[in-house]
Amino acid sequence: PRPQAYLDVSGIEVHYGQAILAVRDVSLSVGQGQIVALLGANGAGKSTTLKAISNLLGPERGAITRGSVSWQGELVSRLSPSTLVGRGVVQVLEGRHCFPQLTVEENLLSGAFLRRPGRRELAEDLEQIYAWFPRLKQKRKTKAGLTSGGEQQMTAIGRALMTRPRLMLLDEPSMGLAPIVVQEIFEIIRSLNNDKGVSFLIAEQNANLALRYADHGYVLETGSVAASGPAAELAAREDVKAYYLGAT
Ligand code: ATP
Repeated sequence: PRPQAYLDVSGIEVHYGQAILAVRDVSLSVGQGQIVALLGANGAGKSTTLKAISNLLGPERGAITRGSVSWQGELVSRLSPSTLVGRGVVQVLEGRHCFPQLTVEENLLSGAFLRRPGRRELAEDLEQIYAWFPRLKQKRKTKAGLTSGGEQQMTAIGRALMTRPRLMLLDEPSMGLAPIVVQEIFEIIRSLNNDKGVSFLIAEQNANLALRYADHGYVLETGSVAASGPAAELAAREDVKAYYLGAT
């Protein structure tokens, strides 16, 4: 058996209904303190894999039909997403889901809902988020729906941080954002990793970018792992370059 990682995904298979096999035999792991990139083209199965890990799939939304997911040595395949959040695993969905009618600050506060912290703790956590995302502090009273795409992505990440996660699953954080903003977001991810020891599993079509920040990477192709390895090695591999790195 493989050594137990922080997050261990072992041979999962995911079906949507009976007909669509979206993920076939994906195994991956995220070590404590690691940033891991999950790469692959549109439709390769990145989102499905992340949802399988955080149990956001369901009977009519797809199901794990084989394999298992364990987190810190515990099988978590049957835990609800909110239970998993309580265990320190949180997902930021693709497309920066914010509540558009709520202010940026209200969005952030909503992230603490499950934890029910005291006032003081809440205020401290907010200040911490604003220290990482100074832009959000400026926009704290603005309705999230009226902020820029980058700010909405930051709000979505900030809200997830309010759960005090140990592992964050990010789905395409760069999607639709200007390169300079994307870089800003990845720099924040790097400092969260360095300063707070938060681990990351990041699904990204922009392989070039993700591999600059990741320790390790997996390339998915039609639902299975086509290549994997240390980020620098993957980035240097001719076959990976040819298929993925030129693409973005
Ligand atoms: P993207 O970047 O577009 O999200 P992805 O790599 O994350 O791509 P998935 O979204 O996981 O890929 O999709 C994997 C496969 O599963 C695709 O063939 C897709 O069409 C299919 N699929 C995804 N969601 C559903 C769903 N709710 N019902 C049926 N099929 C789905």
